[in-house]
Amino acid sequence: MEFDAVLIAPRRAEMVRDGHWHDRTINDELDACVAQFPDKLALTAVSLDNGAVRRFTWRELATMADRVAVGLARLGVVRNDVVSCQLPNWWQFTVMYLACSRIGAVINPLMHIFRERELSFMLAHGESKVVVVPKTFRGFDFEAMLNGLRGSLPALRHVVAIGGSGPDSFEARLADPEWEHEPDAREILTRSRPGPDDITQLIYTSGTTGEPKGVMHSANTLMSNIVPYAQRLRLSSDDVILMASPMAHQTGFMYGLMMPAMLRASSVLQDVWDPKKAIELIRAESVTFTMASTPFLTDLSKAVAETGQQVPSLRVFLCAGAPIPGPLVEQARAALGAKVVSAWGMSENGAVTTTMIDDDDERSVNTDGCPLPGTAVRVVDGDGAEVPTGTPGRLLVRACSNFGGYLKRPHLNGTDADGWFDTGDLAWVDERGYIRISGRSKDVIIRGGENIPVAEIESLLYRHPAIAQVAIVAYPDERLGERACACVVTKPGQGLDLAGMVEFLKAQKTAVQYIPERLVVLDAMPATPSGKIQKFKLRETLRQALS
Ligand code: ADP
Repeated sequence: MEFDAVLIAPRRAEMVRDGHWHDRTINDELDACVAQFPDKLALTAVSLDNGAVRRFTWRELATMADRVAVGLARLGVVRNDVVSCQLPNWWQFTVMYLACSRIGAVINPLMHIFRERELSFMLAHGESKVVVVPKTFRGFDFEAMLNGLRGSLPALRHVVAIGGSGPDSFEARLADPEWEHEPDAREILTRSRPGPDDITQLIYTSGTTGEPKGVMHSANTLMSNIVPYAQRLRLSSDDVILMASPMAHQTGFMYGLMMPAMLRASSVLQDVWDPKKAIELIRAESVTFTMASTPFLTDLSKAVAETGQQVPSLRVFLCAGAPIPGPLVEQARAALGAKVVSAWGMSENGAVTTTMIDDDDERSVNTDGCPLPGTAVRVVDGDGAEVPTGTPGRLLVRACSNFGGYLKRPHLNGTDADGWFDTGDLAWVDERGYIRISGRSKDVIIRGGENIPVAEIESLLYRHPAIAQVAIVAYPDERLGERACACVVTKPGQGLDLAGMVEFLKAQKTAVQYIPERLVVLDAMPATPSGKIQKFKLRETLRQALS
């Protein structure tokens, strides 16, 4: 695969000069972990799905990564090939990235909620050569789903299933054969290591106007964010990092998979969210830091309050990914005893703004933080002119961690000649330079940190024989922040109910989490004279009806 990462080369000189790009890759970090802390516990993976607990030291993790890397090479994977991982937070996820990086392959993390509709687009667009999936997870057979898709994916050579049987299982293909002892292994493991500006990660972000977009990152773009992030949060090799938020999202990938290696710290992976289990893990493993979106913070604080089980080792909970209500921060601070740091970011940039460890709690209650070193923000009006302090407008970011562009979609990169990226979020900046996200100009619904691609689901619904017009809008939800409601106008003489709509969308094989949870049938859509549906009116009507 050729990666058209047009946003990397033009920035290089400035980023190196200013000390943001360090020209290291995860290979350098893993080698340093083994050199400095070979016998230190690197990773503890706890599966609530299958009951397994697996621990690795840095030496063991590196050995497994080498083994899997040689195994991938034996499957025909070469430099710049895409290896997709549709995995929960299992140890194999971490190993797959470390292994891909040994041979210059590009990891493509995929959420386990994706079904045929999402996967058939992403795997074809990314030209994945190998896909690694669980045989089953939460009772769903991923291997069967992928085998069903194979016929329509000419680039796909292998589906490797973890926990499967037969020659295509992860165990047989990648984990068990001790390839690293074979004579050509050293050569395989060293001949095509990637450089720091090569694409290392391809991650899809919900299309706001249509198809998903493949965000390309290099080691330099990812790591130039993780370094200042860890410094600001005062994280070090002494920390134990819990990751219960999916590693198939940028949050989990950068701070649960990459950051522990960069810090020589330890990670604890949890595959199914259960706040009581998280409390147990924090206590048993002496977890000091975690990052997740708002519902995780809500659930964890509630569980601590309910069970009376304290989490004294937890120093910092970083909350980002969805609007963070101030009262929730206050409750969480009281219940957890940990510093709650609020932050804002996205797949294209990583975390861009965070509050500081020494800030008054008020900062996390009322703001989403200030820019990390190497990043700058601007809030502008419709004409691109900067607005005064405290005035909401479009949020632009100029970051050392800005992505390399969208794969095969350079015209959509959203980044101007000076490097300012238009985030699609609305925000205001206060007199101290802290931002608060105040809304979105892009049409997505954030259901508990998971972005629902509104336009895509609407276009699926337009195929429904009873639907004449449809608009999907958010309605507020206490735990998840927002949920989706479909507002429809039916064709003359046709009817539609929620169960019928859900059944229709399930048959389209879309992620269940994307399916609207309410349906409102209207006589007519509120629209502008030019015929544009006025979603703000629908939201208002819905809010009134629900309160
Ligand atoms: P991630 O994978 O980290 O969730 P996405 O790119 O999927 O990143 O989603 C990023 C979007 O999430 C942002 O553009 C914004 O709309 C929303 N978001 C992130 N952090 C916050 C926050 N603190 N407050 C409000 N919205 C947020």
